[in-house]
Amino acid sequence: MDEPTVFGKRAGGGPPAPHTTSGHGDILRPQRTEHRLLRWLLPLFALGAGAAGLAAEVQNTASWYERFVLLPSAFLFIVLLGWSFLTPPHKVARLRASILVVVPAIALTGWGRQLWDLHRDGFDPSVYLDLSPWLIFCAALFIFLLPARSSWKFAAGYYLLSLAMLGGFSMTNQKALPPTVVSEFLINIVIAPLIFIVLLSAFTKLRSDYARARAHASDMRDLAMHDRLTHLPNRHAFMQSFRRAKARQARNQTPLCAMLLDIDHFKRINDTYGHQVGDDVLVRLAGVLARELRGTDEVFRWGGEEFLVLLEETPLKHLGEVAERLREAVETAPLLEGVKVTISIGATHVLPGEDEIQVNLRADRGLYASKEAGRNRVTVVEASARA
Ligand code: GH3
Ligand code: MG
Ligand code: MG
Repeated sequence: MDEPTVFGKRAGGGPPAPHTTSGHGDILRPQRTEHRLLRWLLPLFALGAGAAGLAAEVQNTASWYERFVLLPSAFLFIVLLGWSFLTPPHKVARLRASILVVVPAIALTGWGRQLWDLHRDGFDPSVYLDLSPWLIFCAALFIFLLPARSSWKFAAGYYLLSLAMLGGFSMTNQKALPPTVVSEFLINIVIAPLIFIVLLSAFTKLRSDYARARAHASDMRDLAMHDRLTHLPNRHAFMQSFRRAKARQARNQTPLCAMLLDIDHFKRINDTYGHQVGDDVLVRLAGVLARELRGTDEVFRWGGEEFLVLLEETPLKHLGEVAERLREAVETAPLLEGVKVTISIGATHVLPGEDEIQVNLRADRGLYASKEAGRNRVTVVEASARA
């Protein structure tokens, strides 16, 4: 016997995914964020490196570094940038590793070169201050492109390495630094990037925590609105659906109907075959209902072995027919091997202005009448009919 599993708020609808955590991807969209980020970082880097290299070429002062490192890397990044625009986001993720290695490496070699010149030719305080944006830029690169857990370690490692390089060259510098440069150096190179790295790390951590909390809340909402066994929406979900269906009924002047159905002698099934088999019957029944009903009909697990169906755009005169088709489908479905499982149905229409209690009372009256008349049958109750 095949086991129909019902995932879907609406009969025949798509999965509401009460057991998936799809929320994460939807909220954070890490690949798209990364894609966008790379489109900003790459041009920034390419423009900076390219401009520095070109300026040196034009002024005829290009060093080996500008000619063989800066200009080629700017060219390479412009090519990569073009590629990233023509490529879907998931492939752009592969760029991450190369960028994480290449950009800080170029920055570090650039600093090394500048500091070496400084060491050799003597003191020029502007060099120290030029380094601050690079330090911040590379730390941001790590924090944004690496997974949250390792990003701050890389950013801190890079920061410390830069400071060590700077400290090493400063100590071997022959000329003494004036006090104003020392304080600027402390603020621009040591303190500002440190504060920036800490704030950015905190921000990214907060953002990922927030995304996780939202996904979690959405999972909890799904759990609260769905029955664990059949995955059908439950009574709480019904209240929302009923309100919306009523609003559509009022707006479009379309008929709305409801039916309550209950498995006949379900207790016997439980008592004879065990609770687990009873559960399987409920799951299979949910599958049959979902298959038989239209996409605009909605099935709820009302409780125990009772289900409620909300039928939009179904006039009262067709209600008996629909309910009868459903009853027959259940009777002939292989819900339990060797045993005929049947349902009784009470059906009614929803009048404009009626609340769910009035409708439910009427449907329940129909259900009771079906049980009284011998079960496995349908009773349609009109609103005007007296109890
Ligand atoms: P009737 O034809 O009059 O409806 O008889 P019945 O035996 O179906 O009715 P009754 O309300 O006496 O029994 C319903 C049974 O459904 C009792 C309860 O143990 C069982 N039941 C309720 N929820 C579940 C469930 O989730 N799983 C299983 N296996 N049984 C359930
Ligand atoms: Mg029953
Ligand atoms: Mg019952």
